[in-house]
Amino acid sequence: MKRLRLVLGDQLSLSISSLKDFDRDRDVVLMVEVAAEAKAAPNHVQKLVLIWSAMRHFASQLRQGDIAVDYVRLDDPSNRGDLVGELERAVERIRPDEVVVTRPGAWRVYELLNGAAERLGVPVTIIEDDRFFSSPADFSQWAAPRKQWRMEHFYRGLRIRTGLLMKDGAPVGGVWNLDAQNRKPLAKGLQTPRRQATPPDALTREVMTMVTKRFPNNFGQLDGFGWAVTRSGALEALGRFLDEGLARFGDYQDAMARSDPFLFHSLISPYLNLGLLEPREVCAAAEAAYWRGAAPLNAVEGFIRQILGWREYVRGVYWALMPSYPRTNALSATRPLPGFYWTADTDLNCIRTTVVDIRRNAYAHHIQRLMVTGNFALLAGVAPGEVEAWYLGVFADAFEWVELPNVHGMALFADGGRLASKPYAASGAYIDRMSDYCHGCRFDPKQRSGPEACPFNYLYWDFLMRNRAVLGRNPRLAMPYRSLDAFDAGRRSQITKEAASFLASLDGGAADE
Ligand code: FAD
Ligand code: SF4
Repeated sequence: MKRLRLVLGDQLSLSISSLKDFDRDRDVVLMVEVAAEAKAAPNHVQKLVLIWSAMRHFASQLRQGDIAVDYVRLDDPSNRGDLVGELERAVERIRPDEVVVTRPGAWRVYELLNGAAERLGVPVTIIEDDRFFSSPADFSQWAAPRKQWRMEHFYRGLRIRTGLLMKDGAPVGGVWNLDAQNRKPLAKGLQTPRRQATPPDALTREVMTMVTKRFPNNFGQLDGFGWAVTRSGALEALGRFLDEGLARFGDYQDAMARSDPFLFHSLISPYLNLGLLEPREVCAAAEAAYWRGAAPLNAVEGFIRQILGWREYVRGVYWALMPSYPRTNALSATRPLPGFYWTADTDLNCIRTTVVDIRRNAYAHHIQRLMVTGNFALLAGVAPGEVEAWYLGVFADAFEWVELPNVHGMALFADGGRLASKPYAASGAYIDRMSDYCHGCRFDPKQRSGPEACPFNYLYWDFLMRNRAVLGRNPRLAMPYRSLDAFDAGRRSQITKEAASFLASLDGGAADE
C-alpha cells in the first residue's frame, strides 16, 4: 500500500505520528507552502519566514534520511494556493492508496482534511498528535464531570501522570504551585541574559527574499530575524535558556522592562509549536536542572507549569469547544481594534513599547500580551474577533489552537469564564509596579482623573461598572466591586465621562487625544 504522508508546517518533528511506519520503498512525504494559510491572518513577516524556512530545512533533513519528499514551494507556478487543491494535485501526481496526516493544529484544517476524501478519491486517515502530554479525548474525559474547568486541577493530574516534579506520590517541595514567589518586579541593576540571535543561512535568506516580494505590506520588520529554523538551532536556544534564564525565570516571570523584551523568558514557543522541540524533552530538561541544583523549585515548577499546565490545558479547551468557541462574546465587546495596535502611534507608553517590540521581534512575553495589549483590549471592549486576528498574525508562535483560548478566554474573558476564573483586568498601578513603562509616559499612573491620568485607571473602573451584570457576582471580583461601591456618585460619573471621552477618541482613530 502506497501512502502519501502529508506533513503540515507545524508538524516538523521526526517523531511525528504520521511518519511512524513510513515505508521507504513506497511512501512519499508531501509538504506544501500554502498561500491561503499565509493569508488566513495578517501575518508578521518573521512568522512567514520562520515557518517556510523551517519547513524547507525539515524537508532536506528528511531527504538526508532517505525519505522521499514532494515539496511544493509557494513560488511554484503550478501551486494552487490552497491545501486541498494541492493535495488533489499531489494525489494525481503520486497516485497513493491513502493519505495519512497527524491531527492538524487548527480545527478549520482538521475539518478540511476530514472532508477531503471524496474530492481526492482516496481515504484520508488522521492520526492523533502524540507530541502532547494529553489528547483532546483525555481532556474531554477530564472535563466531562466538571462544572468548572481550571488549569490548576488539570495540571495536577498531569503532574501525577507524568511524575514530573513528584516524589513518593506528592509534589516536590510539598506544594503544587509556587506562583506566589513569582511576581517580583525587575530588581535595579539586574543583569538579564542577552538573546543570541541565530543568523539567517542561505536558505532562510532565500525565503526572506520571497516573503518580501510576495507580502510587501505585511506587518513587522525582517531585519534582525534571529529565530532558529532547525531542530539543532532550537536545541541550542533551549540549552542557552537552561543555562542563563531558567534559574531566574520564576522570580521575574511577570516583570516587564523597556530596555529588554525578553528578560528571563525562554523564547522557545515557536520551536515547540512548530515541532522543532518536544514538550516532554523540554520539561525533562528543566526538571533535571532542578535535581542537579542549577535552578530553584519556584523557577522550574513555574516553567514546567506553563508547558505541562497551560499549554496542554488551552489545547484541551480549544478542541473541546470548537467550532462555537470564538462566537461567544460574554462581555458584548464590539469596538474596532485601535489602529495603534499596528502602528504603535500612541502616547500610552506601555502599548507603544510593546507594539514596537512585536514589530521588531514577532515576540512579546506573556505579561506584555496579557496585561498590556490584552488588558487594554479587555478594558476598552474591543471585539474579540478583531483582537484574535491581531494576536494570530503578529506573533511568531501564533497558531490558532494556542492563540485563541489565550486571547478569547484568558485575555478577553469572552467565554464568560470557561477558561479562567476571572478577567485579567488591571489599572495602571499594576503596570507601574511590574514595569518601567510609566517613567517615559506622558500619563501618570498615580492620577485617577484629569488629562494626565493614566487611561488604564478610569477604564478599569468603567469596565467594572459597564460589565456589572456579568461580573458583579464573581467572588474573585468581590473586593474591587466593594471598592467601587464605596465611590461617591460624583466620582463614578467622572469615571464614566472620562472613559467615554477616551473611548470615543479611539473610535475616531486617534488613540491618545
Ligand atoms: P516562556 O515564558 O519562557 O514560557 C515557556 C513556555 O510555556 C512557552 O514557550 C510556551 O510554550 C508555554 N506557555 C506559557 N504560557 C502559556 C500559555 N498561556 N498558553 C500556552 N502555552 C504557554 N503562546 C503561544 O505559543 N502562541 C500564541 O499564539 C500565544 N498567544 C497568547 C496570547 C495571549 C493574549 C496570551 C496572554 C498568551 C499567549 N500565549 C501564546 C502564551 C504565552 O504568552 C507564550 O507562549 C509565551 O509568551 C511565549 O514566550 P516564551 O517561549 O518566551 O515563553
Ligand atoms: Fe501605560 Fe498608564 Fe503607565 Fe502610561 S502611565 S505606561 S498608559 S500604565
